[in-house]
Amino acid sequence: MPRTALSSHGDLVPSAVLALLGQRGALSRADIARILDVSPATITQVTKEFLAKGIIEEQASVPSAGGRPARLIGLAQDAGGAIGVKVAAQHVEIVTVAIDGEITSAAHHPYDATADNAIEELCTLLKTQLSQFTGKLLGIGIGIAGNVNSQESGIVNAPTLGWKEAKLGPTLRNTFGVPVLVENDVNALAVAERLYGTGQRYNSFLTVTIGRGIGCGMIVDGALHRGAAGGAGEIGHLPTAIDGPLCDCGAYGCLEALVGQKAFEQQARQAGIITPEQNITDLLDQASRGNTTAQDIYKKAGYTLGRAIAGVVHTIDPEIVVLLGEGIDAWEHWQPGFERGFRSGQWATRTNLPYVVEPWDDDKWALGAAALVLAAPFDSRNTSGGQGKLVRERLNTGATLAGVTP
Ligand SMILES: [Zn+2]
Repeated sequence: MPRTALSSHGDLVPSAVLALLGQRGALSRADIARILDVSPATITQVTKEFLAKGIIEEQASVPSAGGRPARLIGLAQDAGGAIGVKVAAQHVEIVTVAIDGEITSAAHHPYDATADNAIEELCTLLKTQLSQFTGKLLGIGIGIAGNVNSQESGIVNAPTLGWKEAKLGPTLRNTFGVPVLVENDVNALAVAERLYGTGQRYNSFLTVTIGRGIGCGMIVDGALHRGAAGGAGEIGHLPTAIDGPLCDCGAYGCLEALVGQKAFEQQARQAGIITPEQNITDLLDQASRGNTTAQDIYKKAGYTLGRAIAGVVHTIDPEIVVLLGEGIDAWEHWQPGFERGFRSGQWATRTNLPYVVEPWDDDKWALGAAALVLAAPFDSRNTSGGQGKLVRERLNTGATLAGVTP
């Protein structure tokens, strides 16, 4: 049975309350306490604070089991929202997200992250988005495939994009004058899973992404584990094979160099089942048509990934592993090998550790980025630093802080 004690990581209870009200609509306090498995006293306290700040409002009364009518509470329409941005090598995804995590608009822009003026170009794209934002903007969240020193300062090192000590956070803050939180994209995704996804029900879990690379966001004891400088969870670079192939990071035999997209394509070309012009889509097509050589490439990769994740499980001791990402549409071919590698790498006492595979939607990256902002008001561990404090101030201040027009 998963532990569902949200009360043991109180910092995220308020976010969970907002997310629940967003997903289910207005509810009574008793229902909220029951669904989130939190004490009624905690919910009374949280809702009292939200009511005082105008974030939620009391609505109609309904009969309750005890005879006394129960007041329903729902989200206030104008409580605030966030903009979430996923920066990828060749495109930028920008979403507008309401306080309950609902995506209210999404836009996809072609983008060259390797260009010299990449950050200026990002500012231009964001200006358009901000000019269309209505209501109270709590902040901008950015998710990027790279290392981010802290959410607050937002200095990015992303070798695959050619970004070295890039001042993404400072530039955006100076340009727009709103709180900006920057985070590794998989870490941001883990925060969104925590607030809105499978992770709502777990204290400690791994969010593993498969695709061009392999990523991992780790929620430990209810909070994102970033490590000393934001580098925790880079499991794509676990040293995996002795004398293995060269990885993009410069090391040999990394997990990603064995089971990342490039590795799949190389192996498929060597096996003669795709041409030099074809790519992983064609490999997947072959596997789905029953080509056993193509299927074996996936099985082997699944086994290698399963072993590696088993190692991370030994390190972190999560309650569940969540698998998703752009490459998840091929999961049926990964699965047989993964199951074998994952189970054989576990202790006998943990062989039933569950994993779930979630359908993928590209908006999830940008939702993750927005979740950084929406989690900040309740961030008791100060992961979001001074920028999170500014988000809190915006949420706590009435309607005077409307969306900015740059
Ligand atoms: Zn590597």
